[in-house]
Amino acid sequence: MRKPIIAGNWKMHKTVAEGVAFINAVKNEVEGTDVEALICAPYTLLPSLVEAAKGTSVKIGAQNMHFEDKGAFTGEVSADMLLDIGVTHVIIGHSERRQYFGETNETVNKKAHKALQKGLTPIVCCGETLEQREAGETKSHCKVQIEEAFTGIAAADAPKVVIAYEPIWAIGTGKTASSQDANDVIAFIREVLVGLYGDAVSEEVRIQYGGSVKPANVEEIMNESDIDGALVGGASLEPSDFLQLVNF
Ligand code: 13P
Repeated sequence: MRKPIIAGNWKMHKTVAEGVAFINAVKNEVEGTDVEALICAPYTLLPSLVEAAKGTSVKIGAQNMHFEDKGAFTGEVSADMLLDIGVTHVIIGHSERRQYFGETNETVNKKAHKALQKGLTPIVCCGETLEQREAGETKSHCKVQIEEAFTGIAAADAPKVVIAYEPIWAIGTGKTASSQDANDVIAFIREVLVGLYGDAVSEEVRIQYGGSVKPANVEEIMNESDIDGALVGGASLEPSDFLQLVNF
């Protein structure tokens, strides 16, 4: 049984005080659910959020990291630095990083390897543009993104990876893929994993949907057979919304 994972991606939002107030507002309510609840926050907030969430089941993740251990990489943060402050998860290859910051399938692959080597849980993102969807290229595009992200990753490590399928046209637009459409692509991604690792491993990998998930649509999305969680931007910023998402 795959444990559902509901993750907030705060993107470039919140001060330390705002982030800590959020964690304090949700942390007791999240206890006792069968869901992995995670907040991926900007670097500046991470130590304070880890501290605020200590002793609860709320986990704290980063939104990016570098694939090297250390060195002359101005502005970058390593896996060891994240582990050092108690971060457990890291989003890798979000479409905004691919679009604005030059992330490629190759860097995603290097980061996924590094995260696994160090014991961080990578949330590897994939998803098509509107153009690609309209050209009927959704599945072929996601297949390449997933195959290249997993290149060289051993079958024993693959289940430690979380995948987030986020159609770019559905991010922050209020447009959601229909839950059936999302499930169809996610089931296809699982087929891609079957090709790489076989049935047993592919059944273990959790695949989230992301793109305008909100309290009003989360239940329908989570009821689909192959969708194991949600990666949520806008609707993860308010404690009351986040709690509704976790309690889908
Ligand atoms: P929204 O939920 O704001 O559409 O963002 C989705 C997303 O990009 C999460 O990573």
